[in-house]
Amino acid sequence: MGSPVQYSPVSRVVIFGGTHGNEMSGVTLVKHWIKNPSELRRKTFTAEACLANPLAVERCVRYIDTDLNRCLSEAVLSAPESESDPYEFKRARELNQKYGSGSSQFDFIFDLHNTTSNMGATFLRCSNDEILSEHMANYLKSRSGSQIMPCYNFLIDVPKKDNVYLQNIGKHSLCLELGPQPHGLTRADVLTRMRELVNYGLDFLDLFNQGKEFPSFDTDQYRVLSRVDYPRDSAGEISAFIHSGLQDKDYVPLKNEDPIFTTLDGEDLLYEGDKVVYPTFINEAAYYEKKVAFTLTEKVRWKVPALKLGTLADYQGCPN
Ligand SMILES: [Zn+2]
Repeated sequence: MGSPVQYSPVSRVVIFGGTHGNEMSGVTLVKHWIKNPSELRRKTFTAEACLANPLAVERCVRYIDTDLNRCLSEAVLSAPESESDPYEFKRARELNQKYGSGSSQFDFIFDLHNTTSNMGATFLRCSNDEILSEHMANYLKSRSGSQIMPCYNFLIDVPKKDNVYLQNIGKHSLCLELGPQPHGLTRADVLTRMRELVNYGLDFLDLFNQGKEFPSFDTDQYRVLSRVDYPRDSAGEISAFIHSGLQDKDYVPLKNEDPIFTTLDGEDLLYEGDKVVYPTFINEAAYYEKKVAFTLTEKVRWKVPALKLGTLADYQGCPN
């Protein structure tokens, strides 16, 4: 492997909760940190906490007009403002103005989410072009182990220009997706785990800023292949449900002829595919409206290059 990847110090850090207003771990923690920010202080920086969708939080719903976490597109951000815009379009522009490229872009964004799926602590990233967050994920794993809740690296892998996710407005980012937790309520075990992870993440950034070097390592990544809809009848109604054998089996290998759906008549529908895949976001409540029953991923071994503090502000991708 070549020389370590270098990034500038990470001093402007924001933690978003309530990007989806009913995902209560992030909502609860961020509300607490806004009142009591001392936990977010480190030697080299102090992180800021922000409720990303305050109106949705107030009403304890995912969103008001449309999903905020799909609004950070170039099209929305560059369009002229209009009275008839969805609330989340306005909010996306405000957040981009304050934390994104609309002003002096923040160095690191944590975006805190919950899922109703059994996905443990999922570290969700949008691109392998930046590796600081992959090193952070590795650090989180090493600090917290997997005995309480297993950790997984999840990659959506979408080109920067097509990215619509809130976390993407920062220079570096990590989305923490913790579950299972029903939307609208707080589970102490999930909230505690999320709080720990954010604190370890801040520790990691502090070590990086102080010049600690992080060696190259190998890791498994779950990369998104496709999204699978529920079977539907001619009227578009869902006609089969997640099979009991698939429920809660996020990140468990799915093979040809494994049952995935079941109908009210008791008929099992089987997976057809010649390659072993890893289903995720199985039966996520918020994805019924997106017509996603589960998201298929492939497990890929990836060698992550070493990381050190430097002055190369614009790193152009890394060897894969
Ligand atoms: Zn969410």
